[in-house]
Amino acid sequence: MNFDILKDFNTLNLKAIGKCYSIRFVHAVLPFDKFTISANQTKCEMVIYMNTPERLKTSAQAQTSLANALIQWLDKIARKTYPAIIKDYAKKYQFNNPPHFRTTIATTKWGSYKSDGTISISLWLLFYSREALNHVIVHELCHTRCMDHGAGFKAMLNHMSPETPAIKAELATPLPPELAWIVC
Ligand SMILES: [Zn+2]
Repeated sequence: MNFDILKDFNTLNLKAIGKCYSIRFVHAVLPFDKFTISANQTKCEMVIYMNTPERLKTSAQAQTSLANALIQWLDKIARKTYPAIIKDYAKKYQFNNPPHFRTTIATTKWGSYKSDGTISISLWLLFYSREALNHVIVHELCHTRCMDHGAGFKAMLNHMSPETPAIKAELATPLPPELAWIVC
């Protein structure tokens, strides 16, 4: 795909939190290939400051550096958003709130639960619907009671958050192609 970051990367649609950020690149005096990301949460505007925005057209290093900066930014949003959802569902379905939480950058394994009480959720779920994110979270919470995917687990999950065909299809859909350069 002939993807021009400066021109074609102009929005970041975080469906799970209902915010679609517009993106602007602005020149600033910064070390080469260093980025500062400033986002206005209310206006949903993101400004990416860099020394020579033009370098994004040709330099793989500049692209990787920006991708890493964006992943860090997304990670912050995920770490602010997900634990509150986990807490709400834990309360609603009377699960013990898992003591540990972490984000991942996995693109196919959306969530996992370890018996030490760690719930892990992919930050890329920010780009999917809130229903899909909630479903993954409830799935992992169910693992706090049952580690396998047997009949008991399925009945519990189905009662709390049925895996509708729409959710199943969405979670099987790859991330939008305009994010490919950030993901890899
Ligand atoms: Zn599972």
